[in-house]
Amino acid sequence: MSQTPRTGTRTAVVTGASSGIGRATALRLAAAGHRVIAGARRTDRLAELARTPGIVCVPLDVTDQTSVDRFTEAVDRCDVLVNNAGGAIGTDAVADADIAAWQAMFDVNVLGVLRLTKALLPALIASGDGQVVTIGSIAAREPYRGGGGYNAAKHAVAALTRVLRIELLGAPVRVSQIDPGLVETEFSVNRFAGDTDAAARVYAGMTPLTADDIAEAVTWVVERPAHVNIDSMLVLARDQTSAQVVHRS
Ligand code: NAP
Repeated sequence: MSQTPRTGTRTAVVTGASSGIGRATALRLAAAGHRVIAGARRTDRLAELARTPGIVCVPLDVTDQTSVDRFTEAVDRCDVLVNNAGGAIGTDAVADADIAAWQAMFDVNVLGVLRLTKALLPALIASGDGQVVTIGSIAAREPYRGGGGYNAAKHAVAALTRVLRIELLGAPVRVSQIDPGLVETEFSVNRFAGDTDAAARVYAGMTPLTADDIAEAVTWVVERPAHVNIDSMLVLARDQTSAQVVHRS
């Protein structure tokens, strides 16, 4: 990958761009004039997203190193990396933990962030104004009943992000983590293995954040001047004050 000098337009790579926060972020960044390279596994969704001017889509499975290698070969420059791909599986107590589910959560949330960050770091440094924005979660800050593997994985994401920030001190790369609370996306449907009633109960009687609320926060973080690093940001709905304290009418 060779990087041409910066011309004004920044190229942003967004993972997990086929739905929810990632899709909204790709659309917002493109609308703000960034060139976007978007990845995810569902190519039908990517094909629809790629109809938007300024967005190029490339298939990506962040849990598969071969897929990551193919994806990053298609990235000709990278000024911004939005590590968004991720999710939760189930709400089992630790005593009932499904080891395979924990491994899958670590693979997508933690190792997925690691694979993309490691692959694109040379390009981010070569940018002269690189930026890594990782989507964590309130689960990265606060343990909750049934949080199990997702809490552990997102806490690991937070540790990785803070270590990266320390290790890049002095390099022209900013490192940020945005931690959303309840956002209504496909997240809960996936967490409950397609059970839409269980997913709907997560947001019942309250007004959750939208994917676009977080996309707007990502865009704001990305558009700060080069000397300003937004280290972390917790974004909650007015109806939520902590992981398990939610006002429902
Ligand atoms: P979502 O609608 O389910 O979107 C998840 C995205 O990740 C999809 O585009 C999915 O695309 C992609 N993805 C999943 N596994 C992948 C893989 N192996 N390789 C590449 N892409 C993969 O959920 P969301 O709410 O937007 O979630 C985005 C991020 O926000 C996640 O990191 C999540 O943990 C975090 N978050 C969500 C909430 C919330 O309440 N919704 C709160 C805090 C944090 P494909 O399936 O097409 O690959």
